[in-house]
Amino acid sequence: MSKLTATALCTAHAAVVEASGEIVAQALLVRRVAWLAALARDMTARLVVARWNAADLDALGSGVGLDGRVLPSKGWMALRRLGWAVSPPSGVHVCDRVLRCAQEQAARLLRLALHRRRLVAAIVATWPQNTGARTGVEWDALRALLPDGVSAADIRNRTRQVRAYLDEHHTFPADLTELEEPPNVAAQVVLAAADRQLLTLERAGDDGARLRVRLPLVEFPSSSRDWGWHVLPVALPPTVPAEAALCAPTVRVVKGRVRVDLPFQIPVGFAPATGHRIGCGFDWGLNGLLVGVAGRMADVADGRVISDGRPLVYDASGVSAKLHRLRGEREHLAAKHRHLERLLAGITPADPRYAALRTACQMLGVEHERLCARIRNLNKALTWSAARWAVDQAAAAGATVIYLEDLATLEARGRRARVNARLSGQVRGRIVEAIRHLAAKHAIAVVTVAARGTSRYCPRCGDGASVLQHCPAPDRLGERGWRWAYCPACGLSCDRDWAAAERIVSRGLLGQQATRTHRSTGVRTIHAIVEGNVARARSTRKPTRGARRARRTRTDLHPRPAARDRAKGRPTPKRPTRTSATARNNSMTSSRVPDRRTVPAPPPTGGGQRPAGHAPKPGRRQPYRTGHVRNSHHRTGFHHAKATPVLTFIGHGNGPGQATPV
Ligand SMILES: [Zn+2]
Repeated sequence: MSKLTATALCTAHAAVVEASGEIVAQALLVRRVAWLAALARDMTARLVVARWNAADLDALGSGVGLDGRVLPSKGWMALRRLGWAVSPPSGVHVCDRVLRCAQEQAARLLRLALHRRRLVAAIVATWPQNTGARTGVEWDALRALLPDGVSAADIRNRTRQVRAYLDEHHTFPADLTELEEPPNVAAQVVLAAADRQLLTLERAGDDGARLRVRLPLVEFPSSSRDWGWHVLPVALPPTVPAEAALCAPTVRVVKGRVRVDLPFQIPVGFAPATGHRIGCGFDWGLNGLLVGVAGRMADVADGRVISDGRPLVYDASGVSAKLHRLRGEREHLAAKHRHLERLLAGITPADPRYAALRTACQMLGVEHERLCARIRNLNKALTWSAARWAVDQAAAAGATVIYLEDLATLEARGRRARVNARLSGQVRGRIVEAIRHLAAKHAIAVVTVAARGTSRYCPRCGDGASVLQHCPAPDRLGERGWRWAYCPACGLSCDRDWAAAERIVSRGLLGQQATRTHRSTGVRTIHAIVEGNVARARSTRKPTRGARRARRTRTDLHPRPAARDRAKGRPTPKRPTRTSATARNNSMTSSRVPDRRTVPAPPPTGGGQRPAGHAPKPGRRQPYRTGHVRNSHHRTGFHHAKATPVLTFIGHGNGPGQATPV
């Protein structure tokens, strides 16, 4: 049994002062929390700015304290071991636990900076010859220097940052502190560093929690009398199960409300790396965002995988087109904003144009921020929708493992970079993370396999040796294209992403003995490529009543027509049609036009007879019936994303050499 940590976003609407029983309404509670957050932020910011230099980052990065002992993993303890103290503003009384919270937040920011520093150092050390793209050798050299688990999007963003610095200063940055300003500090209280002297947290029923925290009663508390214990009832969202263990939250003020970011841990089952019989393979598609298949290992040891012949497609092209458009708009707004800023810098406030320009500039800034938030929200919604769909498909298929293409190898080879640039690699990385999180709840393992050649070779013949032809459509096999795959050797003709997904599931299931689990990140990969063919077998159906009767009575299920009917002695007589009769009266009438209405036309005032179908109940939402698939947006949450419905698994068919259904 291992544990899965997630964070629930909760809100505290009011509080009670424990000593006096006074009820603190939302507005006052928000002010008191904001005072505490501001105190913590000031102390954190001062500490971070003071330590934003190469020597101090080296000291933290070395992992050894002043006394020669290894630094503890808790951030605030590590900073204390290094002697990096923090003090409140003069005349303000805070307890030691508030100092701890400030130090914890500073330690987290500085440790994140250490990670970025390592990235930048590795990128500078292996700066590519051709700044446009890295070669395979350059990628290998870079990956050797980087810590594990760095996403390709991170590498790209840091490379851009270094290149911008290089263009401006004509030299590489000596350290991260030259490349970046000290990080911004958010106004929040990281209560994870506190103990019972600052907070207690307990469950209140199945769907609530009781947070007790000491808050300042004035903006600048001068003694311990200016602090008071507050009890904050917090409602838990339904995603927090009753058996979840709650952890110390982070408290902040967002849009006039007290936001409590409450981490919780739930026990999850262990997903082994090997021993899988049924798995789902997903390909990062060209035609859809994710295309997958469910596959099963054949019982005979001939290296064969059997698929049920049903492609699972999550098509988000509508959403990614929208994201593409919003991103273009964002660039446009940013360019306009920069232009106005340059104009503003050129004139003095005495200039008559200054006021109007400044207003326009501020408005553009606000608009730009809102657009960024919209893109962020859309990315997030798409990420979780796609991940939820993929894990639901795997669970419905009875799979114990999900195989995904390795994004690192995908990026390194520059494959699909241009065709599918609409959806950034960052979104794909987040989908992988989300799939890992959701799959852990179902005890489904997530393993990445090498992407090399997945869409190049045929999944059905030649053990991955016969090369597929890519063409625009199944009826244009002779032309060059990329949407459709055709195998001249065996005649396979299918969507290219489907073929690629079949390769992925067969590489995963057949190569599962070579699965490696990373020691620190727990990420599972298969680097070895084991090729095998995938057979498509439809599920066997229970014989129908007619078929059973036919077997019992020893008759044909579909009797052949008698000989005299089959022999055709005369031509079929032409049947007179009504349209040909009316055509004599009106030569303009086409045979396509019905000569009478089948549905009564509604009167122009409305309220006429409805066409066939269920009548909507006014003012009431239709109840959602589980298992009843109407439109895919009920599952994806998007009107313009289409996904294969999740159906309960009915079993793979008996493939060649197969006798035992699963
Ligand atoms: Zn083939």
